[in-house]
Amino acid sequence: MRLLVLKLGNSPVDQVVSELQYVKGVGPRLAKSYEKLGIRTPQELLEHFPRRYEDRSKLPKIASIRPGQQVTVRGYIRQLDYRPSGGRSLPIKATLHDGTGSVQLVWFNQPWIAKKLRDCEGEIIAFGTVKEGRYSYEIASPEFEVLDAEDDGESFARIVPIYPATDGLNQGNIRKAVSSVMEKLLPSLQDFVPSDLRRKFGLGNQRECIARLHHPESLEDVPKARRRLVFDEFLVPQVVMAQLRASTHRETGIAFDFDHSSGGLFSHGEIWEDVAKMLPFELTGAQRRVVNEIWDDMRAPFPMHRLVQGDVGSGKTAVAACAILAAVRAGYQAALMAPTEILAEQHAAGLKRFFHPIGIEVELVMGKQNAKARKKSLDKIANGEALVVVGTHALIEETVKFHRFGLGVIDEQHRFGVKQRQAIKEKSEIPPDILVMTATPIPRTMAMAFYGDLDKSVIDELPPGRKPIKTHWKRTNERQSVYEGVRKLVQEGRQAYVVCPLIEESEKMQAQAATDLFYRLKGETFPEFRVGLLHGQMKPAEKEAVMEEFRDHKLDILVSTVVIEVGVDVKNASVMVIEDANRFGLSQLHQIRGRVGRGEHASYCILVADATTPDAEERMKIMVETQDGFRLAEEDLRIRGPGDLMGTKQSGQVFKIADLIRDAEILEDARKAAAMIVSSDPSLEKSEHALLRPRVEAAAAQRESVAIG
Ligand code: ADP
Ligand code: MG
Repeated sequence: MRLLVLKLGNSPVDQVVSELQYVKGVGPRLAKSYEKLGIRTPQELLEHFPRRYEDRSKLPKIASIRPGQQVTVRGYIRQLDYRPSGGRSLPIKATLHDGTGSVQLVWFNQPWIAKKLRDCEGEIIAFGTVKEGRYSYEIASPEFEVLDAEDDGESFARIVPIYPATDGLNQGNIRKAVSSVMEKLLPSLQDFVPSDLRRKFGLGNQRECIARLHHPESLEDVPKARRRLVFDEFLVPQVVMAQLRASTHRETGIAFDFDHSSGGLFSHGEIWEDVAKMLPFELTGAQRRVVNEIWDDMRAPFPMHRLVQGDVGSGKTAVAACAILAAVRAGYQAALMAPTEILAEQHAAGLKRFFHPIGIEVELVMGKQNAKARKKSLDKIANGEALVVVGTHALIEETVKFHRFGLGVIDEQHRFGVKQRQAIKEKSEIPPDILVMTATPIPRTMAMAFYGDLDKSVIDELPPGRKPIKTHWKRTNERQSVYEGVRKLVQEGRQAYVVCPLIEESEKMQAQAATDLFYRLKGETFPEFRVGLLHGQMKPAEKEAVMEEFRDHKLDILVSTVVIEVGVDVKNASVMVIEDANRFGLSQLHQIRGRVGRGEHASYCILVADATTPDAEERMKIMVETQDGFRLAEEDLRIRGPGDLMGTKQSGQVFKIADLIRDAEILEDARKAAAMIVSSDPSLEKSEHALLRPRVEAAAAQRESVAIG
């Protein structure tokens, strides 16, 4: 899933934007380096905040410094020890003395430093970490400055910001350029957050907070300044989402009248009577609650936009069926869209089982239908005979015309883009109701940050009688015994998945690794079994064929990359072996594990990994310990950051300074503030929102152009 990145846009009303290269201390060459950091304008540079600070403000006497301390020291160079020898230079050693004591400064491979020190006559000031040296205390690779007569060292001996940097850009470059944009832009910067909101949420003034964050006088200034800028980063997208929500709630949609059935196919009485006929089991309390939330939306006259989250196996299909039933009882058609053909087929089979007892047909629309079958389906959809339609992307093609479309259910939504969501809405003249279902548990803060425009329901209970999946962590040298375990289960008639190591560098390498593992297992380890292979470089039809063989038990073992689709339901598969499990994130492992434990058999998940880092070890232990998808998602967010959890490649870096774990409370405030703003002034027309509006519009425009899928 690519991420919906809502950037804090540069506001057109802010100072006139000149190109970054004209900023003092930048120039065309450095401007290129800044671009690598995503900084193209002076405003963006102004919002390039330090990652951390070094406190050089305390200037201890050299006699008082101790190993392990970070210190700023000031004194004269007593002795300089440097001999260039052949190609490689020896370390430069300089003895710094301040009258109370001396310390050795050491630099490696930087011959120009020797020259600079040799030429210097006055004092120098240096910053670094003190270490126990061979003969005295040492500071390795200190930052330093040569002081001239009138320089009192104050500009060096302060709290120094350390910025995210990149090739060709050093801290000095960035500090200088930031100072010059601050000088230029800050004096005329007007706060875009209205003062009453600032007061209400205890926020500092924007200009001061920006200045403090770049140049704090004391480290105690930082949290308050940071809070304001984190708030800003959250506020703008929250306003966009609040507006979207407000506008869907203002739109006129369909008020489904399913409480009073006209009879015909349906029970005359309550909808619950039909539900009872439809489902072979009682809904869990959580399913019942979510169904009621959905039905309330459907009865209301505005279009539903609801996200249903439920862990793997929580029974989302039954919930979707209840929503579909309501639409159909009210005389509308409903469609369920799944990301792959195999999932669409599975859903169609599941819904048929439910709807057959009440005499409703389920129509399946897919790319692989032949022309004749396709035409027949399309006709039934167009004349309204087909009430429940299941399909893939094929559903949103223009040739698919509905007679009276009312409800769209989108499964595993992160695979679809905003565009597809939009396209399915366009199947009806009146905005239809949309229900989005996801099996990826999304931590609360992330849901707030990225799906703030959707109402949310959570199915937080599993159907009764579910057997837990026994999860074991085995080291790579125990692999043979893992395979023996697999052999035993397959001999008993079960099936197994073996997921091969994750290789992020390239799909090709990934496919190669899967192929190698396949040949090894097929040829050497399990010559007596039917082994299949599935990877991302295969054609869709080949993948489907292999999945079908596995589903129909024509294969015993499936070797696969992570392409085994979310949602695939093969009840006889009872063991999942995940090779090099330490390379996967927790949520991903949880999804993969969720492929087993779907039938009556005791199920196992074997994580094969050597813990290479403390992180990896922690993740393996958590997997063994819990099967709670939400807890795993929270842990994943804590350990690996939001980028990773949302599946973006550039792990972590989603917000510029905000942090979805540390800053959950600020996000909550920003959400409240956005709700207040939008309820009092939906289109941001009031004068106090004049500066906010362009930022919000820029973020909204960007949202349109960035797909989630
Ligand atoms: P998911 O949320 O992963 O899509 P499914 O809808 O595929 O889950 O349901 C998983 C399994 O649990 C299915 O076999 C389904 O029939 C069964 N199931 C769902 N709800 C209940 C329930 N309330 N009681 C018993 N079994 C249920
Ligand atoms: Mg499902």
